[in-house]
Amino acid sequence: MEIVFYLTVAAIGLVFGSFTALLITRIPMGESIVSPPSHCSHCQTKLRVLDLVPLFSWLFLKGRCRYCQAAISIGYPAVEFLTMVLFMGVFLRWGMSAQTVAGWALTIVLVSAAFIDLAEGIIPDIITIPGLALGLAFSFFTIGFFQALGGAVAFLGVLLLVAVISKGGMGGGDIKLAAVIGAFTGLPGAVITLLLSSLLGSVFGVTLILLGKAGRKTPVKFGPFLAVGAYTAFLFTPEIVSWYMGLW
Ligand SMILES: [Zn+2]
Repeated sequence: MEIVFYLTVAAIGLVFGSFTALLITRIPMGESIVSPPSHCSHCQTKLRVLDLVPLFSWLFLKGRCRYCQAAISIGYPAVEFLTMVLFMGVFLRWGMSAQTVAGWALTIVLVSAAFIDLAEGIIPDIITIPGLALGLAFSFFTIGFFQALGGAVAFLGVLLLVAVISKGGMGGGDIKLAAVIGAFTGLPGAVITLLLSSLLGSVFGVTLILLGKAGRKTPVKFGPFLAVGAYTAFLFTPEIVSWYMGLW
């Protein structure tokens, strides 16, 4: 019977992956999330239910619009698939619990923020503000409100400090995303996120410099690193903390 749970989680992941892909494509264009209904961006034909099945429609139509044959970006099925995998990871870690539902909400925030940051260099308020509200709301059923508030304020404060010291090396969107992450993970998770994302960002930055693809002054988009760090922290903070303690 367990297979039924996994298939259900996969289906939920794909549906919300589709929603996440919608956020990623529409928010930077300043379009509404609810209207117009999904349509082909090339021929404008309104898509029907069969055209909108996450992942599978794209596969069956071989990446082309059913009506005008225009190529449909692989970004859609890729984001749907990624979201599904991340939803599954949260479920495998936290099982049937409020923590899992909170983790799914955090996943949507992280994936949309990371991809919009990669493409546009910004993390829009329309993702972080509702994300913060969701994180604080979920905390009543998960880590507790004051743990969430503490995580949010502390993480926001640290990145704000970094922004001031580095004179704008940290964007406002990154700072707000940090508050969202802290609200979902609490203080220990925020610390782990900060460590992991700084580590990943440094390794990536140094690699680019060594490859001659960037200079010391090239701005690094921090959002994707925050996202990877936060997702890892949300799943493994207890293990990481006890591993670290074991080193001493
Ligand atoms: Zn079309």
